[in-house]
Amino acid sequence: MIENNRLKPCPFCGNSAASFRSSYNSLKEIYLVFVKCEVCHARTGYSYTNENPALNSYTSPAALRSQTFWNSRPFERADPDPDPNPGSIDDDQHDGDQAATDEAPNEE
Ligand SMILES: [Zn+2]
Repeated sequence: MIENNRLKPCPFCGNSAASFRSSYNSLKEIYLVFVKCEVCHARTGYSYTNENPALNSYTSPAALRSQTFWNSRPFERADPDPDPNPGSIDDDQHDGDQAATDEAPNEE
């Protein structure tokens, strides 16, 4: 596990469980670096680098870019302030209130 104090708590679940990750794309011969939360599995987009980012403890520019991605994500509240003044909800109060139809009285 990489020193965790470089990464802020997860912007989605709030856990301090984020760590640097990398994977190697053998087709493109390039490493993908990203930061991932171990709890909710949220992660940043990829940064690309030619060197294995784990070898330098994720201090390469690509890793630092991932760190910036992660740390600049604002915390997302799952339940924002409820609207203190919900809009009009009396739409279904007209049930028994049959409006006068144009049923004209039968006059001859
Ligand atoms: Zn999370």
